[in-house]
Amino acid sequence: MRWPSPLRHQQIKYLLQRSRQELLWLSYQLLPPHCPLCGKPLQPKPDGSIATLCDLCRNQCQSRAQAHCPRCDEPYQASTITSHQCSQCLKTPPPFEWIKTAGIYTEVMAQAMNQFKYHGRATLAKPLAQCILDQLGDEISAYRPDLIIPVPLHRERLRERGYNQSLLLARQLGKVLNVEVLAQGMVRSRPTSPQSLLNASKRHKNLHGAFKINHNLAPQRLILVDDIVTTTSTARACSTLLSQQGHTVAVVALGRASLK
Ligand SMILES: [Zn+2]
Ligand SMILES: [Zn+2]
Repeated sequence: MRWPSPLRHQQIKYLLQRSRQELLWLSYQLLPPHCPLCGKPLQPKPDGSIATLCDLCRNQCQSRAQAHCPRCDEPYQASTITSHQCSQCLKTPPPFEWIKTAGIYTEVMAQAMNQFKYHGRATLAKPLAQCILDQLGDEISAYRPDLIIPVPLHRERLRERGYNQSLLLARQLGKVLNVEVLAQGMVRSRPTSPQSLLNASKRHKNLHGAFKINHNLAPQRLILVDDIVTTTSTARACSTLLSQQGHTVAVVALGRASLK
């Protein structure tokens, strides 16, 4: 087989690029992209790429509280105390380095999570993970993680849902940040009631003995991925086990909810 000459090669490359642009243009006309949360049309950016969410939905999913505990991400009312840890973290230092979330749990985020977790819309993993990356990508990279582990689902819940939403988020983060994901790094050894139905003290008891570590790795710098953090019970339960094995744990989630 004869290789094309350099000039011919340039021509082929140019034609392929043009065909790609024309195909993209055609696909926009035939199937105009829409925001997967509100259905609003998405306009292509000047470079031809398409945002994963419309501006309104993205802002709703990336609205971090200005003032929050730097350790557990607990939102504060006032905006002048950003460098102070909350009373709970000062009283009982948590088993993780920090928790960081893309934003507070807004109505749009609640609807997105409802679709993502309970209505089979696994494709929301990409736009929701993008919200995490937009907000926290640099901070996660600065932490220099070795491995990403998702908060596990019990196998019965996994059978009902068909996927672990935290694993889907973890995979998207791992792909972009180039960090390996250990899908079964932890397991949920017994079924638990949904945390959202319980108050703070019951949430803690609900998770007692619920998780197990499913690997025997030497100490690593881990990112634990959850969907929504509320009381930090899940993050604490998983991080306690991981830190007992010598791992350093930081927790990343899409949203920060509050029981108040
Ligand atoms: Zn939207
Ligand atoms: Zn705190």
